[in-house]
Amino acid sequence: MSDPTHLTIGEARAALKSRSLSATELAKAHIEAVEKARGLNAYIMETPEKALAMAGASDARLQRGEAGPLEGVPLGIKDLYATEGVHTQACSHILDGFKPRYESTVTAQLWRDGAVMLGKLNMDEFAMGSSNETSYYGPVASPWLPPNRDAAWARAALAGDKRGLLVPGGSSGGSASAVAAHLCLAATASDTGGSIRQPAAFTGTVGIKPTYGRCSRWGMVAFASSLDQAGPIARSVGDCAIMLGSMAGYDAKDATSVDAPVPDYEAAVGRSIRGLKIGVPREYRIDGMPAEIEALWSQGVGWLKDAGAEILDISLPHTKTALPAYYIVAPAEASSNLARYDGVRYGLREAGKDIVDMYDRTRRAGFGEEVRRRIMIGTYVLSAGYYDAYYVRAQKIRTLIKRDFERVYADGIDAILTPATPSVAFGIGEKSAGNPIEMYLNDIFTVTVNMAGLPGIAVPAGLSGDGLPLGLQIIGRPFDEETLFAVAAIIEQAAGRTRLPQPWWT
Ligand code: GLN
Repeated sequence: MSDPTHLTIGEARAALKSRSLSATELAKAHIEAVEKARGLNAYIMETPEKALAMAGASDARLQRGEAGPLEGVPLGIKDLYATEGVHTQACSHILDGFKPRYESTVTAQLWRDGAVMLGKLNMDEFAMGSSNETSYYGPVASPWLPPNRDAAWARAALAGDKRGLLVPGGSSGGSASAVAAHLCLAATASDTGGSIRQPAAFTGTVGIKPTYGRCSRWGMVAFASSLDQAGPIARSVGDCAIMLGSMAGYDAKDATSVDAPVPDYEAAVGRSIRGLKIGVPREYRIDGMPAEIEALWSQGVGWLKDAGAEILDISLPHTKTALPAYYIVAPAEASSNLARYDGVRYGLREAGKDIVDMYDRTRRAGFGEEVRRRIMIGTYVLSAGYYDAYYVRAQKIRTLIKRDFERVYADGIDAILTPATPSVAFGIGEKSAGNPIEMYLNDIFTVTVNMAGLPGIAVPAGLSGDGLPLGLQIIGRPFDEETLFAVAAIIEQAAGRTRLPQPWWT
């Protein structure tokens, strides 16, 4: 058999079922690939013993014919998910040494369905970022080579400070890099303002942020609770459908989880889109957008038309207010969520002369610069004198953004097509210094979806002139992830599955 790390989940499932491949062999191939790819810094913690034990149990179940839907499938888990007995830190220094005594609902469901855990994946600290450069564990490199650089140059950069290599996007940068470099068959990720879709677009992988409430947030380290959602990153639309089917579902332990049946997402892949009404929002045609992204978007429109969809120009007039409103709502919630890290209950503690001094020293030592910035902004906009001027106003804007979508859906639009990101991946060190706003602009096409609680998928649609992946985003009606899978599958088929980079990093 050819390299098993290059299988899709669907292919791996068939090979495991026919016993031409064992779960143990599949796990071993991945463990080896992960070891050889340490330079990418995608995994911050490898759990090979756990993987082999889980794979062994999978083999026994496969033998007995009791296989679950993800039986023997090796996955990487974003460090944001609490994993019982396995270090969980959201890549923050402040959670040093934290080993949860419980498992997040989403990962528990993956293990229930037979999946195998390879380890914990790097991410921006507390999921704050768009480049995976805010991690306490350092930046993750994308497996995509920068334009005009060769493997020898890249290997030297990998051994050094990684500057000039490409970012995989963020905050789920470890997830995207690991999936693109074949270091797992798929990964869990999370999306508060774009952290599944932007890294997927940067790495030529597929990522879906489901509707708010579709997946349980229980056991996920909280960033901004009204925006956070779990979702997968995988190498095909079909694999994302398989993953989401296992991750989704009602959970009484999360008060915002929605008690609605989980449809058969796999069945939606390949479904006809004839007669669907796809909206193209004019406000997403922003100044300064590279011509090649504009061209890709038109190409996407053409593919959907060819598949029988009807394309309509639509308007989402409050689009340009989404980013500023997000950067009030998200930090406000973050400042409240992060108040719990006080040196008493979890992780790091720095001794002080009294308890207030201990809090102060612990939080100063434990949080990185970006996280501190968000706490300061959040505390400011929630403070008595500014609450109405900033926080309440941002919440009102959020309602207007939501109404924009409600109106186009009420007019009969089934889904919306946009670019996933305003640019291709940039270099490590290129944007992180100095100007945080420049980094925040990465989320311009993705945050509206979180503000409105809608589902969105990013699917690779082609390569830039420099040979880097570009993605399109499809936004759907609430709880209609099926239409996203159907539309994304058409784009995937028309564009051809992205040929991922050859391993230069070993
Ligand atoms: N880049 C956005 C931020 O920094 C979104 C992050 C996310 O979705 N977790 O807040």
